[in-house]
Amino acid sequence: LLKRFSAFALKAIRYKLKAHYAHRRHHPISGYPSSLCGATPGKCSHYPCVMRIDVITLFPKMFEGPLTESILKRAQEEKLLEINFYDLRQFGQGQYKQIDDRPYGGGAGMVMMCEPIVSAIEALTGQGKWDKGKGPHRIYFSPRGTRLKQTKVEQIAKKHDWLILLCGHYEGIDQRIIDGGWIDEEMSIGDYVLTGGELPAMVLIDAVARHIPGVLGKEVYKPMQPDGGK
Ligand code: SAM
Repeated sequence: LLKRFSAFALKAIRYKLKAHYAHRRHHPISGYPSSLCGATPGKCSHYPCVMRIDVITLFPKMFEGPLTESILKRAQEEKLLEINFYDLRQFGQGQYKQIDDRPYGGGAGMVMMCEPIVSAIEALTGQGKWDKGKGPHRIYFSPRGTRLKQTKVEQIAKKHDWLILLCGHYEGIDQRIIDGGWIDEEMSIGDYVLTGGELPAMVLIDAVARHIPGVLGKEVYKPMQPDGGK
C-alpha cells in the first residue's frame, strides 16, 4: 500500500512541477520569459503573450486599422502582444450610461466622470497580478502630462508587461481620479491639444511594440540615441 501511495505522490508532484514550469516557460518566438500572473499554473489565459495592453476608451472603433494591419497585426497573431478594448460607456451611470459631468469644485466645460473610470480600472486590476507581479501600469493621456520620448518608450517596454491606457475626452478627466491614485502616469505626446486620447494611445502602442522581442522579426533592434541625443 505504501509503495502504491508513494508512486501516486511522486506522480502528483511531477504533474504539479510540469504545470508550474510550463507556465513559466519562455515564449516560443521572443524567447522572453512570461511572468506569473497569479492564475493556476497552465490555466493562464494570457500565456504566452509577452505584453498585454488594455485600452479604456469611448471609441474602440477608432483603433481599427492602425492596430489591425502590418507589424502590429502580426505581433497580435503571434501572441507577442495582446490588446483589449474596454468601452467606457458600458461602465456609465444610470439609465443613459452617463460618463460626463461638470468638474468637481467648478470650472468650465464637462469632464469624464469619476465612477465609470474607477469601475473600469478596478474591473481590470482585479483580473490578477500580471506585470511581473506588480499589477498594471496605468497611463492617462493628457496634454499636460510628461512628454513622451524614446527613452520613456524603452523604459516602459522593459519595465512593464501590462499597461492600462486611459483615453480622455471633453475637458479631460475628473481630477479626483488622479488625486485618488488611480493613475500612475500622465503622458503627453506633444505640445498641442487633440480632441481625444485615442491617437496618443495608438502612438504609444506602436512605439512600445517595436521593443517587444520578436515583433520586428529578424531585424536587429538598435536603440536610438536617447531622445535624439538631446
Ligand atoms: N483642456 C483639456 C486639458 O488640458 O486636459 C484638454 C482636453 S483634450 C480636448 C481631450 C483629451 O485628449 C485629453 O483628456 C487627452 O486624453 C487627449 N489629449 C489631447 N491632447 C493630447 C496630447 N497632446 N497628448 C496626450 N493626450 C492628449
